[in-house]
Amino acid sequence: MIIILNSKATKEQIDEMLKDLGNLGLKTGVINGEQKRIITLIGDISKVNVDGIKAETFVEDIRRISEPFKASNRIFHPNNTIVQVSNQKIGEGHFCIMSGPCSVETEEQIIYVANRVKKAGVSMLRGGAFKPRTSPYSFQGLGSDGLKLLLKAKKATGLPIVTELMDLKHLDLFSDVDVIQVGARNMQNFEMLKELGKCNKPILLKRGLSSTIEEWMMSSEYIMSGGNKNVILCERGIRTYETATRNTLDISAIPMIKKISHLPIIVDPSHATGLTWMVEPLSKAAIAAGADGLMIEVHNCPTKALSDGAQSLDPDQFDDVMKNIKPIISFCGKKLNEA
Ligand code: PEP
Ligand code: MN
Repeated sequence: MIIILNSKATKEQIDEMLKDLGNLGLKTGVINGEQKRIITLIGDISKVNVDGIKAETFVEDIRRISEPFKASNRIFHPNNTIVQVSNQKIGEGHFCIMSGPCSVETEEQIIYVANRVKKAGVSMLRGGAFKPRTSPYSFQGLGSDGLKLLLKAKKATGLPIVTELMDLKHLDLFSDVDVIQVGARNMQNFEMLKELGKCNKPILLKRGLSSTIEEWMMSSEYIMSGGNKNVILCERGIRTYETATRNTLDISAIPMIKKISHLPIIVDPSHATGLTWMVEPLSKAAIAAGADGLMIEVHNCPTKALSDGAQSLDPDQFDDVMKNIKPIISFCGKKLNEA
């Protein structure tokens, strides 16, 4: 439940109301917006005297919130959140493209791909060091050595890096990583989310393979309620009955998230489709639907990639995609972040 106050509310009135509500066993909070102040109430609201509160001259409205998520809810935070990563912003018109290989494989590979994607106009390098693979017999990633190579590529190009954390025991290794990715398979690893809520690094929270939007929002809530407000959502396709594509890209999740949440949302068309040739049309669709960025897999030689070759663009193909999507980004009123 939230109580929206008007500009007449004094500090004494607010304090008294908070005290009364606290005495009912409710957890209260105050949000100071640019134009309005809002009191948030969490807990059993059955004893709240709704009519009495409405009658107060300094109260504009009182509303029940049916969604169980609060911190990521647009109602409590009407303005779009802008997440700051190194020297760039994501959200509210700042469009960020993160590209790179599914897995970091060698130093030459990651430095070459980093330079090529930078030249093509991206502002962040992605690459997996710890890889969540369906089969234990598949390449598992280079682990901490892969992380070191990513950091070398960051140094060589100046691109901030985003990479996946698979286990909290590795968190110390991530101190120079700019954005920590929580992969689809870990979206509901609640202990991990709680711990990430205590750090102030930006978190890229991918949507779980079969997660509803509400479950996804609740996962963002785990991070944000711990104090870390720097969450970027990533729609990466969900499992449906369709087998023609690896997953089904839920384009409608973008306007839905924009409606219910203030967090920035990016789209990963590579994992969503599993098909190189579909990356461009779905990137365009994502931009048109209101996404704040894209994550695209690019490999120096997709036919030899140790993971996800079938969905990875080679650097020349990626140049073309970038050329074709840039005008759409500006047409949609967004500005592409520069490296
Ligand atoms: C990835 O980004 O490499 C990855 C494994 O993604 P997801 O968690 O979306 O499958
Ligand atoms: Mn991948």
